[in-house]
Amino acid sequence: MSLDLTETDTLVVGAGQAGVAMSEHLGKLGIPHLVLERHRIAERWRSERWDSLVANGPAWHDRFPGMEFPGYGPDDFVTKEDVADYFVAYAKMINAPIRTGVEVKRVVRQQGQPGFLVETSEGSIRAQRVVAATGPFQRPLIPVIAPQDAGLTQIHSAQYHNPEQLPEGAVLVVGSGSSGVQIADELQRAGRQVYLSVGAHDRPPRSYRGRDFVWWLGVLGAWDAAATEPGKEHVTIAVSGARGGHTVDFRALGHQGITLVGVTQGFENGVARFAPDLADNIARGDDNLRQMLDAADAYIARHGLDLPEEPEARRRLADPACVTHPLLSLDLAQAGVRTILWATGFTVDYGWLQVDALDANGKPRHQRGVSSEPGVYFLGLPWLSRRGSTFIWGVWHDAKYIADHIAIQRKYSAYRAASEQGSAVKATAKEITA
Ligand SMILES: Cc1cc2nc3c(=O)[nH]c(=O)nc-3n(C[C@H](O)[C@H](O)[C@H](O)COP(=O)(O)OP(=O)(O)OC[C@H]3O[C@@H](n4cnc5c(N)ncnc54)[C@H](O)[C@@H]3O)c2cc1C
Repeated sequence: MSLDLTETDTLVVGAGQAGVAMSEHLGKLGIPHLVLERHRIAERWRSERWDSLVANGPAWHDRFPGMEFPGYGPDDFVTKEDVADYFVAYAKMINAPIRTGVEVKRVVRQQGQPGFLVETSEGSIRAQRVVAATGPFQRPLIPVIAPQDAGLTQIHSAQYHNPEQLPEGAVLVVGSGSSGVQIADELQRAGRQVYLSVGAHDRPPRSYRGRDFVWWLGVLGAWDAAATEPGKEHVTIAVSGARGGHTVDFRALGHQGITLVGVTQGFENGVARFAPDLADNIARGDDNLRQMLDAADAYIARHGLDLPEEPEARRRLADPACVTHPLLSLDLAQAGVRTILWATGFTVDYGWLQVDALDANGKPRHQRGVSSEPGVYFLGLPWLSRRGSTFIWGVWHDAKYIADHIAIQRKYSAYRAASEQGSAVKATAKEITA
């Protein structure tokens, strides 16, 4: 199989939600394009998420404007397989020109002419523009402190599917964002002894006074925040749509039987060391929750909304023993820990994109997705334009902006001064008379 095209105007790399959204907007503006996906549409939702995952936001919110989730009520949380099916159906609905099973290996600038040469697993293609829609979470990140211990199974959250996949025994889960807390909870409910290493986190209420937190972030303008607050760059957000959706409460996880520990600092001779910061991290998560409740109350008062009071949202459980007497070290063998599960996030990998759009650390250089290399765009990255940029609905709006930018640039390219047009007409007339 080879690519049946030798050139296209805009090449979109990746057919996750970002690539599909990009195709929709390019299509609407009549911009010829092609989307290349190395696996299947929305592959990461299918194979790089655990089996029981549901969307963190409810069905009315975590979707594109053009289609609802079939078979779901607005407040339901969609399973990850149905999220993937949604994007397949969406791509079909908009007739997106997607070629699956084609990997983009290298993109380089063409010399002495505009555009790029794109080498793929199925041959080369030239494109005037390239949109990198290869995802915010491309390469699982395992910190360098990971122990070199052949007796331990170590996997990243992107490789975790279900409890049965792990060897018998206790599990140390490192990372307390949405992935870490949900996986730790699932493992504990499956009968595992679980240690959960808790770092800095935000933990919004799942819902408050009858409205889901996604609604609150929307009306309070938080999804539109252009950048994370200084000092909060490494703060993860702990939310869960599991079991119908609930507020993540670390104290409740402690009472349930999970042993909470502070930030994992290192490993030596089979012993894990934890920072003495557990209570602080939990207290700062509480502050974040309280701030959101206060902001929501103020919004309700300011707009005179009739939403039911919910004082219990401010109630705090007693600290479990693991918080009052935190473990600062753990002998893994003695504790029966056979697995370390790293829920420590991801990084990007643009090795294939060999143009002037990346900084010395390989990070994209861009403004709202428009890169420093004319004709190269990034989509789907964290904080691309706002907090919502990696989310399903957010990427759709970012794609619209980029498509618009491409349309404007195409107009500039097509422009010819009247004098040039005149000379073109004269040239044609000369050719005819010759
Ligand atoms: C555990 C988890 C839960 C999440 N839950 C939610 C949620 O509930 N709601 C929400 O809005 N967001 C959620 N997100 C965030 C976000 O929606 C997803 O990460 C989503 O997968 C991002 O979509 P994307 O299209 O930007 O990137 P990806 O889904 O990563 O898609 C990129 C595509 O590019 C392809 N690709 C990569 N390199 C190449 C190449 N060289 N050539 C060709 N193809 C290539 C990949 O195969 C992939 O299919 C979640 C993220 C995670 C990690």
